[in-house]
Amino acid sequence: MSRAEPDLFEVVNPATEEVIATVPMTSLAETDAAIDRAAAAFDSWRRVAPADRARLLRAFAAAVDADREHLAQLEVANAGHTVGNARWEAGNARDVIEYYAAAPERLFGRQIPVAGGVDLTFQEPLGVVGIIVPWNFPMPIAAWGFAPALAAGNTVVLKPAELTPMTALRLAELARQAGLPEDVFQVLPGRGPVVGERFVTHPAVRKVVFTGSTAVGKAVAAGCAAQVKQVTLELGGKSANIVFADADLDKAAASAPGAVFDNAGQDCCARSRILVQASVLDEFMARFETAVRAVRVGDPTDEKTEMGPLISAAHRARVASYVNEPAFTGSCPDGPGFWYPPTVLTPGRTDDRAFTEEIFGPVVSVVPFRDEADALRIANATKYGLSGSIWTRDIGRALRVARGVEAGNLSVNSHSSVRYSTPFGGFKQSGLGRELGPDALNAFTETKNVFIATEEQS
Ligand code: NAD
Repeated sequence: MSRAEPDLFEVVNPATEEVIATVPMTSLAETDAAIDRAAAAFDSWRRVAPADRARLLRAFAAAVDADREHLAQLEVANAGHTVGNARWEAGNARDVIEYYAAAPERLFGRQIPVAGGVDLTFQEPLGVVGIIVPWNFPMPIAAWGFAPALAAGNTVVLKPAELTPMTALRLAELARQAGLPEDVFQVLPGRGPVVGERFVTHPAVRKVVFTGSTAVGKAVAAGCAAQVKQVTLELGGKSANIVFADADLDKAAASAPGAVFDNAGQDCCARSRILVQASVLDEFMARFETAVRAVRVGDPTDEKTEMGPLISAAHRARVASYVNEPAFTGSCPDGPGFWYPPTVLTPGRTDDRAFTEEIFGPVVSVVPFRDEADALRIANATKYGLSGSIWTRDIGRALRVARGVEAGNLSVNSHSSVRYSTPFGGFKQSGLGRELGPDALNAFTETKNVFIATEEQS
């Protein structure tokens, strides 16, 4: 009997089109074996004293910290992220692990007063958690899943995206260096329909955390439903950046390009629809155009670069398919590399798919609105609901609009979406459940209730 050819994946630097590594894709049989090992390791990992689990996670965070520059450079080469962004991403992964390292000793249960005895609730780990990661922010998104899962006493199998396995593989090495048992945190580079789907169908995987497109997320949720398996979904977005006439227009216009073109627009929180109060549209557009034309697109290893390439040629073709007649574009290098310029669509067009679908590239729509009610109507006219920004000097309006937008993460006079200590996640088809912050821990536990009779039964 001949052995099957190994399934190898060539990892490409999107800024140079050079192959930087050849990574074997995990097979179905290897995935099953890894899940079995993770299930066996759960028995001992859940029993590790909370203080010791905390110490191991702190050591893991320290190992990531010591390796930050290396991790950042790996991401620059693998995903084409600007070096400034990649450093932030490595730092975010470190912060998230450190934050949840405090959790094992603080996973408090409750004692609820009842008649006839003592009633205790415990937060118990689930077992094996399967984490499926997209290619756009490989390091942070991996850490948002595995750090709370491990802290709560679960074991983890993690699948990075086919295109971007490098930093996840390095994180697994760092976990081992820090002393985490090998089978407690395993990284399985592989294909979605092989490894990812097996996380969904394998009965020993008790929870799936999926970050990626809404289309695949729906299939993952349906598969989990068949086994009543827990699932957290972090999916697509089409977020609004709402600029009122009373806003600081200089700041709003100067920051708007970064809010959508950061990571070349490959950001689930990208503010890809700019809603501007009609009375200041021309004023805003003049400032915005100057800012867009100034965005420095090019070599991601250069500290001054603000935007790198798209992830692949196929993705660039998909992005380009949304653009008919742009109002104006910034500039970008010719190639090699999967470059695409910052692109602003003709203001006012709300009738085409570029205004309703997630493009996941450096393309932005601009739409005027009349008043608050009109702004909310346009902002909410999407199946997505992940994030958004509101620019105004009126605090009452800021809060009214923030409460009115159907999205999980809003910011006022800022474009911030992610802080490791606060909840992150989407409304509507942007997702299910929340990551980060204190609440995410509960998403990796089951609540168990135990009653102990202390009175003679009558
Ligand atoms: P994708 O859905 O194509 O893939 C995501 C992951 O799922 C990859 O690891 C892929 O291999 C795997 N996968 C593919 N098919 C699968 C299957 N049948 N079963 C199980 N797993 C499968 O998404 P992508 O193109 O890698 O990422 C871009 C998308 O991710 C965008 O829509 C973006 O908005 C979304 N995203 C959301 C968030 C968030 O937090 N809400 C964050 C980042 C990215």
